[in-house]
Amino acid sequence: MSELAYPYEAPASQALFDRAAAVTPGGVNSPVRAFGAVGGTPRFMVSGSGPYLTDADGREYVDLVCSWGPMILGHAHPEVIAAVQEAVARGTSFGTPAEGEVALAEAMVERVAPLEEVRLVSSGTEATMSAIRLARGFTQRTKVIKFAGCYHGHVDSLLAAAGSGVATFALPDTPGVTGAQASDTIVLPYNDLEAVHAAFAAHPGEIACVITEASPGNMGVVPPLPGFNQGLKDACAANGALFVSDEVMTGFRTSRAGWYGVEGVVPDLMTFGKVMGGGFPAAAFGGRADVMAHLAPAGPVYQAGTLSGNPVATAAGLAQLRLLDDAAYETVNAVSARIQGLVTEALTKEGVAHRVQTASNMFSVFFTDRPVHRYEDAKAQDSFRFTAFFHSLLSNGVYLPPSSFESWFVSTAHDERAVQRIADALPAAARAAAEATA
Ligand code: PLP
Repeated sequence: MSELAYPYEAPASQALFDRAAAVTPGGVNSPVRAFGAVGGTPRFMVSGSGPYLTDADGREYVDLVCSWGPMILGHAHPEVIAAVQEAVARGTSFGTPAEGEVALAEAMVERVAPLEEVRLVSSGTEATMSAIRLARGFTQRTKVIKFAGCYHGHVDSLLAAAGSGVATFALPDTPGVTGAQASDTIVLPYNDLEAVHAAFAAHPGEIACVITEASPGNMGVVPPLPGFNQGLKDACAANGALFVSDEVMTGFRTSRAGWYGVEGVVPDLMTFGKVMGGGFPAAAFGGRADVMAHLAPAGPVYQAGTLSGNPVATAAGLAQLRLLDDAAYETVNAVSARIQGLVTEALTKEGVAHRVQTASNMFSVFFTDRPVHRYEDAKAQDSFRFTAFFHSLLSNGVYLPPSSFESWFVSTAHDERAVQRIADALPAAARAAAEATA
């Protein structure tokens, strides 16, 4: 690691990373946090406030990760914090039903029309795992179609050709997933309806469901082409399979009703996480009441969780959802558009081939001059330019996702001062991207 590549040292973060590496594999509890794709010292954060994070060395960053999506109101929003404090004071877990989980489920069902019933869980992985099990139990079929570059958490059967950290680290098929689990997964290219029709034709009566990110953000932002999601829905309906829309990332972020609210395609099942937990481990799956009726204790498909519907997590999630009115989405969308414009301007000025792709206020930058419609396109970008761009921004106090295969996230708290700091940091970053060599 040359001094030139990482001009700012982060001694306190490095000391913590060394301590972490002695007791935790790779020093992190989720792989993409390790800076594996970009190199350098992962920043250990000690606090967050509004659009800013402060690291262990006392340096402040404008945060464009927002905890990978959840912090849509910024960090430590006073009303979310107050709701959490109030909930904590009443106890942290009861192991019984409690009103908070009813209220959160009601708020979700009220916002997302196809969500007739919902079951709360603790992570997006749990949500997609449970949705797949339910789809298999309901249809009495085994096979699942997923798309290359889509990430649905680290569910065994869904890790094949996954995006996010699997893409960042260019991992081959993951050891530990059995052949049987992998063989029930059919991986197809994203945005390719012909491939979906061919798969249904090749496996008549065998496919339980098609699962897709509602609008993918885990290979960078690659929105569905017009008609793709509707085509999936129609193909499922014609073949007796369920259409599972994974809104863990897009849910309550891309609009009040998530990507469903943007596009209007009605799934059979949906999964949620991130924003609905207000920064706590809360997630959910739900959808058609007749399908959800197959879930225990109403039906035979088993699913459970000691901390499901945790009272602190549900209080945080509910407080966040209540604050997310139309004006909040207008604010996030507007600030996202401004930052996209600044990025384009800076990169264009330096002659760097790039594409900014968006899905509502989610966006990412691909270092390529070609449109990115599928995982293969995303992988063909000049990722070495991203590395230089990332480190220049980091050095100047702007914290991007440490991978070119991730969405950037903003919040209602990204105000004029935060945007100006990004604007000030971008010219040097664009220059670094222009000068980077493979
Ligand atoms: N589904 C999607 C679309 C995601 O983006 C993620 C996480 O990034 C997951 C599922 C898994 O969620 P979790 O990390 O909470 O297990």
